[in-house]
Amino acid sequence: MLADFAAFQVACKQFQPGDTIVLQNGVWENADLQIFCMASAQKPLVIKAATPGQVIITGASALSIGGSYVQVSGLVFKQCYKAGKPVIRFRTDQKQLANHCRVTECVVDDCNPADRLQESNWIALFGRNNQFDHNRILNKKNLGTTLIVELNDTANQQNKHLIAYNYFGPRAKGGSNGAETIRIGTSTFSRTSSQTLVENNFFDRCNGEVEIISVKSCDNKLSGNTFYECEGGLVLRHGNRNLIESNVFIGNQKPYTGGVRVINAGHVIRNNQFIGLAGFRFRSALTILNGVPNSPINRYDQVKNVSITDNLFVDCANIEFCAGKDFERTARPEQVTLKNNLIIGKQPIQLTINDKTDGFFPADNYCNFQPAAALSNFFKYQSINRQWDNGKEYVAIGDKRIAISSGISRELVGTSWVYSIRPTITRRGSRISVVPGKNTIAAAIKTAGINDTLVLQHGATYFVSEGSAVKQPMAVISSGKSILQYTGEQSIHFFQIENGGSLYLKGLICDGLSPNGIASSFVSAGMQPMIDKYQFKAEDCEFKQLTDGRKHAFLSGKGSFADSIVFRNCIFYDITGDVVNIAAEKDDVGRYNAEKVIFENCLFQKILQGAIHIYRGGNDESTTGPTVTINRCTFLQSSNTDLGYAVRLYGVQSSTIQNSIFYNSGRAGRAVWIEDFGWTKHLVDRCLLFESGTIQHFYPGVVGKNILRINPLANWALGKFTLPILQRYGTNGQAIGSTQNFIQ
Ligand code: CA
Repeated sequence: MLADFAAFQVACKQFQPGDTIVLQNGVWENADLQIFCMASAQKPLVIKAATPGQVIITGASALSIGGSYVQVSGLVFKQCYKAGKPVIRFRTDQKQLANHCRVTECVVDDCNPADRLQESNWIALFGRNNQFDHNRILNKKNLGTTLIVELNDTANQQNKHLIAYNYFGPRAKGGSNGAETIRIGTSTFSRTSSQTLVENNFFDRCNGEVEIISVKSCDNKLSGNTFYECEGGLVLRHGNRNLIESNVFIGNQKPYTGGVRVINAGHVIRNNQFIGLAGFRFRSALTILNGVPNSPINRYDQVKNVSITDNLFVDCANIEFCAGKDFERTARPEQVTLKNNLIIGKQPIQLTINDKTDGFFPADNYCNFQPAAALSNFFKYQSINRQWDNGKEYVAIGDKRIAISSGISRELVGTSWVYSIRPTITRRGSRISVVPGKNTIAAAIKTAGINDTLVLQHGATYFVSEGSAVKQPMAVISSGKSILQYTGEQSIHFFQIENGGSLYLKGLICDGLSPNGIASSFVSAGMQPMIDKYQFKAEDCEFKQLTDGRKHAFLSGKGSFADSIVFRNCIFYDITGDVVNIAAEKDDVGRYNAEKVIFENCLFQKILQGAIHIYRGGNDESTTGPTVTINRCTFLQSSNTDLGYAVRLYGVQSSTIQNSIFYNSGRAGRAVWIEDFGWTKHLVDRCLLFESGTIQHFYPGVVGKNILRINPLANWALGKFTLPILQRYGTNGQAIGSTQNFIQ
């Protein structure tokens, strides 16, 4: 029995084959456990917790195993992060790899750095014949694949690792590539053989990015796994001859849930079930890609000699063939056998075909509805019944009956001992009245608790000269309207959302112009690194007078990531920088700062630069956001600098701009500037543009048919436009433009 890390440090030099080393229960902080031993199958080295689940490894800790036949079990790695090291690594250094080693019955939970952009893998398999099984993986938040199999050295190839019966817990959207749950290989070594077996694992809402599993090597087998409500799929990204068998994908009609995506040659995909998957394009139930002719190793090899048989599709939305076809991916699939596959659905599945399908060879594929023209070349109508028998659902065709799977039982995966997670108690915040005065809001925020609501007095003025760090979810609201008047000299952010914070504002009139200076912004998020995501919402607020240089009403910092940012019934007036700037992520690798951004019934008036600027650089296809909605907004006398823009959406994946008015805005450039990619979805429709710039975009279909270019008749005394058609021109006959009156 080893009492602590100091004892371990002494003992580990003497570890012998056949030893059983017991770690004493307790918290092991800053324990960089390195275990090297050349043990044998007959005499393994066993390292285990005195009681499984009672040894908690935390702080700057990690586990590295080298040698052979070392077995580790029962440890909990909790909030354990050592820079530059995976939490669990199957080698002690470059030379000393692990072979025939095993990690089992362990938990890895919340082992994140403070910065979500600080990339790390949690589990790294090197060497050969290693086993990672019955583990529980929870709360990965930073960039980097959760578990990787490395093939970067011949001693790591043909490795025959086994990854089995693990529970991979929910992983939130990463907002970037590099948020896979498992990756086997890299593109560089993708044409070498790995022979990894990924079997009977449970992937629970692993939503990091489009690839839940990214296979980048040859001769792997992935079977018996369950993908439960995962916003992505199992992707044969690089490498050949992989077997995908008897897996179950359960989407429950959640958006973006996907199945298998096929690239490269020689794969077999059989006996899988795809159930209730709602994803489209690269997240379809089955996606077969076009390749690049003579592809570089890091792009897309052509699909060839792929066999897809005996699969069942139940209530799925989409299948796509020749997906990703563009001016680079022009090599269409060859020798694709599609045989004995069944599609059943309450709705017909949508088959999208982007190129010639002369390389597909269908036989005996059936669906339970009259197939549309495209699908009918592959699937024939046949009566297929769904029946319930003894609490189980079956699909019956002819004399064949197939049970619809509910996936591997959760009882069978993860640790056999119970890992109890204390349930997060959501504190019901209190309402706290804040008296008017100088920095009384800042003082109240300092002492506020989680989910507290600070209530300001209607009609009162609050003087602000210092900024407030928002480190927990909270609200600042007025009982009617309250004024936040800047009085400082140094540039500050009124509210600075930091890690753990989220903010709701209501009824505030924020004025950034002091006799002695001008505030930097009203709200900023992520000026320092963050690991957690945040939410922001402002309703019935006015943001005005940031009148010098690059000032922003809302500014998001590099590395920050919002689930949602919402502005509703707000007025932005007399601001010189981009009013809402969600554009700090400039590395052009597909990262971005907010998943969902909504503007509803807002007025932008007298803005010098852009009103709305959202940026996601690079042509990465791994993520779903940002999604932007601009509805019933008015842009007035704004953004008229040379080559300027009122709205700029760069690389946004999906947007709608509707029921909005651009009046004397973006005149010397663009009213709306959308940098669209072939696959992104945008619509500008039911809008009026008068004495305003162009709607600039690249692909067709962005601008709808209903764009008015007439004088909306501004009545300044009334503070609104008076052209009658505006009252009914919007979608569903509603009015267009914001209901906020112009500022006089
Ligand atoms: Ca990826």
